Amino acid sequence: MKKKVVILTGAGISAESGISTFRDSDGLWEQYRVEDVATYDAYLRNPELVLNFYNERRRQLFAVKPNEGHRQLVRLEEKYDVHIITQNIDNLHEQAGSTHVLHLHGELTKARSDKDDSLIVEIGDRDICLGDKAPDGAQLRPHIVWFGEAVPNIEPAAALCEEADYFVVIGTSMNVYPAAGLIHYVPKGVPCYLVDPKAVPISRPITIVQEKAGTGVKKVVDELLAQ
Ligand code: NAD
Repeated sequence: MKKKVVILTGAGISAESGISTFRDSDGLWEQYRVEDVATYDAYLRNPELVLNFYNERRRQLFAVKPNEGHRQLVRLEEKYDVHIITQNIDNLHEQAGSTHVLHLHGELTKARSDKDDSLIVEIGDRDICLGDKAPDGAQLRPHIVWFGEAVPNIEPAAALCEEADYFVVIGTSMNVYPAAGLIHYVPKGVPCYLVDPKAVPISRPITIVQEKAGTGVKKVVDELLAQ
């Protein structure tokens, strides 16, 4: 049976594709406050602003491509049972060809009923506008986990971490919970790797590759494939 590699990715892995990260001061999130565009209260107050914000994110996604970091992770599947847990709402891992991708914070290419979380529809690159209806007649909202909302995929993600033979963290500041707590489910003694150009505080033994994903992921993948 193949050994399991579990990978936790954040906004940093998509940075070299041209999608702004959350906390690095390079634009997007300096122009918006989380409370205005990424909470359920914001959606109730000004649904048009919130829908337009995510329509912009979706348009941007369809204008960019996966980068070397996303592509290198696909190589790991030659030898390992690879599971990517991503905090990203883009689909660049899937576009690169990764097979098992679990989205913790939702997906830009999907929408759902704002009255029934289980009514999810594929929208691809289409905008969501006020008046667009889900099959139950309710307004469609982005299929995004907003700040303050529950993270339904955290349990399957924790179960994957418990089964990891190797654990890799790429491009996340480990500031957003519960995602940042997943590393505590990885059993002691499991080799862990971190790829990030900044020093990210992680309180367990971990091999650090302090580089951008575009070069750093290849180093970890080469090492794992050589084992
Ligand atoms: P974050 O912005 O808090 O942290 C980004 C991390 O990526 C930092 O540690 C930074 O040093 C690192 N980084 C920057 N450039 C990098 C590169 N080229 N290669 C590797 N690492 C790089 O992001 P987060 O921890 O993912 O938390 C932000 C939240 O915002 C998440 O919940 C996520 O859902 C959301 N978000 C998603 C996207 C996306 O879908 N692409 C983009 C922005 C924000």
